[in-house]
Amino acid sequence: MQFSELAHVCEQVGSTRKKLRKIHLLSEFLQSVPPDEIAYSVLLITGQVFPESSSTTLDVSWKTIQNAMKSQQQPLFWNPLSITDVYTRFQEIAKASQRKKKERIVSSLLGQASDQERAYILKNFFGEMRIGASEGIVLEAIAKAAKLSPDSVKRSHALLGDLGETALRALTHRDLPTQIKLFNPIKPMLAQMGDIQDITQKMALEYKLDGARIQIHTNAQKVRIFSRRLTEVTESIPDIVQLVRDFPESVTEGEVVAERKGKPLPFQELLRRFRRIHDVEPSAEEVPLRLYIFDLLYLEGEPLMDKTYLERTARLSEVAGPFLVQRLITEDRLEAEEFLSEALQAGHEGLMAKDLNSTYVPGKRDKGWLKIKPTETLDLVIKAAEWGHGRRKGWLSNYHLATREGAVIGKTFKGLTDSQFQNITETLLALKLEEDMYTVYVRPEVVVEVAFNEIQKSPTYPSGYALRFARIKRIRDDKSLEDVDSLEKVRRLYEKQFKYKAKLKM
Ligand code: AMP
Repeated sequence: MQFSELAHVCEQVGSTRKKLRKIHLLSEFLQSVPPDEIAYSVLLITGQVFPESSSTTLDVSWKTIQNAMKSQQQPLFWNPLSITDVYTRFQEIAKASQRKKKERIVSSLLGQASDQERAYILKNFFGEMRIGASEGIVLEAIAKAAKLSPDSVKRSHALLGDLGETALRALTHRDLPTQIKLFNPIKPMLAQMGDIQDITQKMALEYKLDGARIQIHTNAQKVRIFSRRLTEVTESIPDIVQLVRDFPESVTEGEVVAERKGKPLPFQELLRRFRRIHDVEPSAEEVPLRLYIFDLLYLEGEPLMDKTYLERTARLSEVAGPFLVQRLITEDRLEAEEFLSEALQAGHEGLMAKDLNSTYVPGKRDKGWLKIKPTETLDLVIKAAEWGHGRRKGWLSNYHLATREGAVIGKTFKGLTDSQFQNITETLLALKLEEDMYTVYVRPEVVVEVAFNEIQKSPTYPSGYALRFARIKRIRDDKSLEDVDSLEKVRRLYEKQFKYKAKLKM
């Protein structure tokens, strides 16, 4: 199918604000795409380009694109681009290691494209489609086109973790998974914001550990461990592999925390370990890791996702006894508060409050789990950065922090060490899209967890909100744009502040 048809539907989707209309347009389009171009189409429409769990990246800078545009030549014979042509070129660009080669491919691709096609190719380079076709909307469109229920498609997607594969299977009526399978990682269940006042019935309270989420698949022969983005991390954490070798055939979930003498170390230390898989030399000094397990999703042939929290965890101690997370089942507010302060004193982030009757909902921020953190943070993406002065000269330091929709709600240079400034400068320069006198604009990929004192209404930012005293708590290499908080969440947190203030006055 011609790529111009995909560009055309993107244009139409971008020109309406109505969600149902977007779904209708996308669903009509997807029904007309031949099977071998379905996966490519959904990945290009959402701007993901490569499946979320893939470690492949395009790695093209604004400079490469600029050079490519300058040297762009009109082809002698104009062949319309197909969706496959565009996708294959994207794969070649990702594969090319030399900048010159990337430039050549980009140049020939853009040279062959019409104005409208070029616009959507560039949007894919920049990782921002801005047509309001989020993964959720595309999943609804897939369901509509395949005449399936949106919930079943969403569930299968969470089990597959690959939008292209989900679309292909749904639209060609091939089997869509409905249950977890050993060694196939699933998208983790996530928590909604909560606070200690929400404990109005008997709930399971667990320490909220400040580490990295892992999903452990084991049988007698093999151990495979996956990160929350479903990339495999088995080789970067051999010490954890050792600990879980004797687990029965199971899928468990938990958190690894870097700890020294029983105290959690900064999150950055942990990510260094996770990233080591890409390094040639192992780091000289090992960061000791501690394993905590909190859920059981599959045991010896039996999927447990649809069982309640109580049923799942009842069998957890026989599987992972020594590694169970600290837990207290209570409905007593005072007991809960005490448990929270114990967790904080031990250096953890807070508590998770889990509904005893909740099932495990993969890939969803579900109300069955509430996270209770005394200091709220937001996960934001760096959209631009300014060159520093004084001690920070030569580094990109004042970061423009944006929500998932790209709305800037603050700037900060606080919270990072010198070596982090250095690293983040390198990372951001590799993601550069444009630059003016003071500011470098980047592909929105670096996710940071931001602490702040208050959210204020802002007359300056178009988003309408600004963070007061924003500071970076940590760089979240384990999170992607999809995990970044929405403007809606900022709005909710803003409102919540008043709830508390009102309470204080009472
Ligand atoms: P957040 O990333 O702030 O949405 O919080 C959810 C994350 O908290 C999960 O993805 C886990 O990595 C982490 N976490 C820490 N402790 C627990 C726990 N006891 N249960 C579930 N998730 C936990």
